[in-house]
Amino acid sequence: MKSNFLCDLHLHTNYSYDSQTSMEEYVQKALETAVQALCFTDHIELTNKISTFSTMDFGKRAQEFHLLKAKYGKQILLLLGYEFGSPHRHLQELKFVQSLQPDVIIGGVHYPLNYYPVAGKCSNSHYQMLYNKCVREMVEEGGFDVLAHVDLPKRMHDDYAEDSQMVLGTLERCAKYGIVPELNTSSLRRGKTLPMADANGILHYLSCGGKFVQLNSDSHSADTLCSGFEQVLATIPNGATLCYFQNRKPVALP
Ligand SMILES: [Zn+2]
Ligand SMILES: [Zn+2]
Repeated sequence: MKSNFLCDLHLHTNYSYDSQTSMEEYVQKALETAVQALCFTDHIELTNKISTFSTMDFGKRAQEFHLLKAKYGKQILLLLGYEFGSPHRHLQELKFVQSLQPDVIIGGVHYPLNYYPVAGKCSNSHYQMLYNKCVREMVEEGGFDVLAHVDLPKRMHDDYAEDSQMVLGTLERCAKYGIVPELNTSSLRRGKTLPMADANGILHYLSCGGKFVQLNSDSHSADTLCSGFEQVLATIPNGATLCYFQNRKPVALP
């Protein structure tokens, strides 16, 4: 189901190690551009190099969010969540984040086996194999709501050739376990192809009983809010229902 309700539900703010943008900057940009809902999903990442769990000021972030809601809540729907890196490997920390009762937990793999590919140091197929395996394990363990960027390896390698069998198998499990896959437009901003380019991924997910999908920019600054949405919306098959999450429950876009 297509919707005119414009929202962006995967956003990094200055509570993420890789963004300088405040929540309020996103809200102001959204109000200027008629965006009707935002969800802030800062990184919880625990690797051998980065640990944002121990440094995240959960209380301050929640307080800032609630002040914004009080200020702008009549004009825009504001939601608070997290993008948790490889939650299946950090079950204690995941339990803590769940206990905060966020609107959504996005599960995302960035560092399979604590490894981040440096250009030229890892072949596409090797990185993709590590990545897909880690995503599959994460989906099997569950405990989160939205699967981030199933096609992230394309950001890393120009010779990306999707292991579609593996990706389709993961999407099949998303349908089975009620995990919502996102179409993440950040690869478009890096000059790569559309997310799940041929729509086969979503069609397969729908044929396995999946219903909801999300369209997200994964922005780290306000100027890319909803970037590429028009282009990608046109590729989403009829039958897929766009949604946001509130209190960790999917809500179809009005
Ligand atoms: Zn991510
Ligand atoms: Zn992200």
